[in-house]
Amino acid sequence: MSGVEFYYREITVRTERLYQLVDITREVERAVEESGVRNGLCLVYAPHATAAIVANEHESGLMEDILRSIQSNYPRRAGWKHDLIDDNAAAHLGSAFIGADRVFPVINGRLIRGTWQNIFLVEMDGPRHRRRLLVCVLGQK
Ligand code: ZN
Repeated sequence: MSGVEFYYREITVRTERLYQLVDITREVERAVEESGVRNGLCLVYAPHATAAIVANEHESGLMEDILRSIQSNYPRRAGWKHDLIDDNAAAHLGSAFIGADRVFPVINGRLIRGTWQNIFLVEMDGPRHRRRLLVCVLGQK
């Protein structure tokens, strides 16, 4: 039995709108392949306080629904105290409660996800030149 290996890869994403879903599934799956890990876990992490990671269907209507529900759950300029500092409290709240990370199983060298579960960066404070994402794969080769 071999030991546990750790691999990580940084992905950078440019966003174009204030709120946007960016499909990063292909990049994450590529990182899992490159890792050579056969069985383990894949963490997708956004080291940002105003972005999040979700897994769901890549269907344009649903993608708009997801963004609309985020904006209705965490409305902009709703009297948040942080808005007095830099006017993006809604994005911080979205990031805090949706979460800036997701974990997926890796089995037999493949990232496991549902047919209707693509992986998205959720931009809530765009546009941004450079959103960094970390894909960490931990497991046995
Ligand atoms: Zn802020």
